[in-house]
Amino acid sequence: MTAHGAFVSFRGHEHHHTLGRRFECMGGCSIDLSYLASNPYIVELEVIRDGTYRRWEISRELLVEGMTEPAGLGMVHVCPTGGMPGRVSVIKRVALATHVELILPRRRLQELLDRSHDIVPAGAESDHYGWDAVFAALGGGC
Ligand SMILES: [Zn+2]
Repeated sequence: MTAHGAFVSFRGHEHHHTLGRRFECMGGCSIDLSYLASNPYIVELEVIRDGTYRRWEISRELLVEGMTEPAGLGMVHVCPTGGMPGRVSVIKRVALATHVELILPRRRLQELLDRSHDIVPAGAESDHYGWDAVFAALGGGC
């Protein structure tokens, strides 16, 4: 029996960036990261703060790249947090001129990524992708 998922939970920190105002500190938040072999390209990030709940899907490859250098050209960027060693920022555009920045402890993110690579090595994602759904469609279960 092999593991089908990896999970880590930790406290993170949230900033909102808007045009004309450098940033607004939203304070601490709970962040859950999860990785499932059945969705092998994606790391799921859940943010819980003040009774609000958000769920982001982030490319695992993007997170790996962003650990060491700025990465991402679309709605989501990942980079080492400026001026904060040991932290990684995940920045998502949520409106035309508004970005949400989540500041994650680098060690916990690395832990999740390491475990995810134990489950599905980089480059082997297509071997795993969609099999659960295929089995379910065939009427099997696991
Ligand atoms: Zn802050």
